[in-house]
Amino acid sequence: MTLPICTYCQASFTWKQCIGRVDRNQCTECLGVNTLSKKSKMFIVLPYVVAFFIMIYIGFFTSLPGYFNGIFIVAFVFVNHVLFQPFLLHYTKEQDHSF
Ligand SMILES: [Zn+2]
Repeated sequence: MTLPICTYCQASFTWKQCIGRVDRNQCTECLGVNTLSKKSKMFIVLPYVVAFFIMIYIGFFTSLPGYFNGIFIVAFVFVNHVLFQPFLLHYTKEQDHSF
């Protein structure tokens, strides 16, 4: 797993730069604006789709208390967003606005 690189100057984004602001990321080296590729957007949505099905499973097919789902989704979103998402990002040059 590697962190995304700038499409203009190939400088690597830092982990911190990839948290919270994922759609568009301005390179600190060359100031070029990078936008997420379509493929990357799919990869980012996928964990949440999986989490949704896990929540349905917990809610309907286990006898765990309801708050367990709440704890699960908070922990999942935090871990996914902070630890894994930065490595799923792949940027293209700014002109790709179609999605
Ligand atoms: Zn750059």
